Amino acid sequence: MNGLSYLTPAGDSPWSTYLAQIDRVEPYLGRLTRWIDTLRRPKRALIVDVPIELDDGRVAHFEGFRVQHNLSRGPGKGGVRFHPDVTLEEVMALAAWMTIKNAAVNLPYGGAKGGVRVDPSALSRKELERLTRRYTSEIGLIIGPEKDIPAPDVNTNAQIMAWMMDTYSANVGATATGVVTGKPIPIGGSLGRVKATGRGVFTVGRETARRIGLDLAGARVVVQGFGNVGSVAAERFAAAGARVIAVQDHTGTVYREAGLDIAALQQHVNRSGGVAGAPGTETLDGESFWQLPCEILIPAALEGQITGARAQRIDARFVLEGANGPTTQQADQILAERGVMVVPDVIANAGGVTVSYFEWVQDFSSFFWTEDEINARLERIIGGAFSHVWDTAQQLGVPLRTAAFVVACTRVLEARELRGLYP
Ligand code: GLU
Repeated sequence: MNGLSYLTPAGDSPWSTYLAQIDRVEPYLGRLTRWIDTLRRPKRALIVDVPIELDDGRVAHFEGFRVQHNLSRGPGKGGVRFHPDVTLEEVMALAAWMTIKNAAVNLPYGGAKGGVRVDPSALSRKELERLTRRYTSEIGLIIGPEKDIPAPDVNTNAQIMAWMMDTYSANVGATATGVVTGKPIPIGGSLGRVKATGRGVFTVGRETARRIGLDLAGARVVVQGFGNVGSVAAERFAAAGARVIAVQDHTGTVYREAGLDIAALQQHVNRSGGVAGAPGTETLDGESFWQLPCEILIPAALEGQITGARAQRIDARFVLEGANGPTTQQADQILAERGVMVVPDVIANAGGVTVSYFEWVQDFSSFFWTEDEINARLERIIGGAFSHVWDTAQQLGVPLRTAAFVVACTRVLEARELRGLYP
């Protein structure tokens, strides 16, 4: 009854991880269980062909996707990623996690995600622009400021959002700033959006530490990923007195027992494209990274990184999920058995979409807030949402992820029930 004929999720794939999370929440939904299969399938999935002319005159085709997992609480919302491993199944899972995330934070959105199966580093800037514009035009059927609002994700940024906004606007014949968030400031972007996800990760980490009696001063932090999320989270933890002892990215793993100099590491990454070989650091091999004794482990790269095997060796007080879906279902269970708390993605990394929401509201009202106002509101919303999830976990005696899903699924399915079935 719940299987989807167009998908056979295997083992630890993102969609099967998500389905297992839904199974775990089912006993806590009471009468709303009647509607739960809504969450086990995307409302709408669009597959598009994205042909572009390469600089050398050849034509290349790329697979593009936009999935609207759920629209019960409002328009679709969620990023677009450009990555060679993007698949429909991955985008479905990422869209579903946006549904849960937006509801867990109580933003008036459903959940959506998009992606193009491409290695953007192999394209010139002009080719990247053509790819972005053609993809936007193809998904133009289903996006819009009141329908579905894309944003940056892995390998996409403010410039790509500017091209998306311009393409959509050209097609509808009017400047529509609210069609995407994460735009550059001069064309309707919001102050604080770039750092929002990392800031939110830090806020949730700090609140978790406070509740378990962990002093951040001197606490050892280990981070996978040094992009928009990992680098900002590392910077915030270091500023709070924690020691960021290791950082891993696609180029390698760097370690310094006394704590890495995050500003210097950032400069090295800006120059060389990755953390490998940063001055004053030791090099570690990729696997020993996962067993470093630390207080806080922050996966802030791609999904599926904490596998069952790695979970056996993790030596941390808690895992703070900056990435979407970094922990497989098997790993989640192993960590729970081993007493390693997991602070789930749907709350830990919700700072980005929260400031995206602020950006969308500012675009609609054409009235822009100061960075201090934005950061204060972000702190209040994320802190409040985390607190509610923490209390729910205590009341029900369940892990934080299940608690976040209980809060979120209840909100989504209540909306589903109130709206009823048509016809
Ligand atoms: N891509 C980010 C996420 O996974 C942000 C989405 C948004 O701002 O819409 O939460």
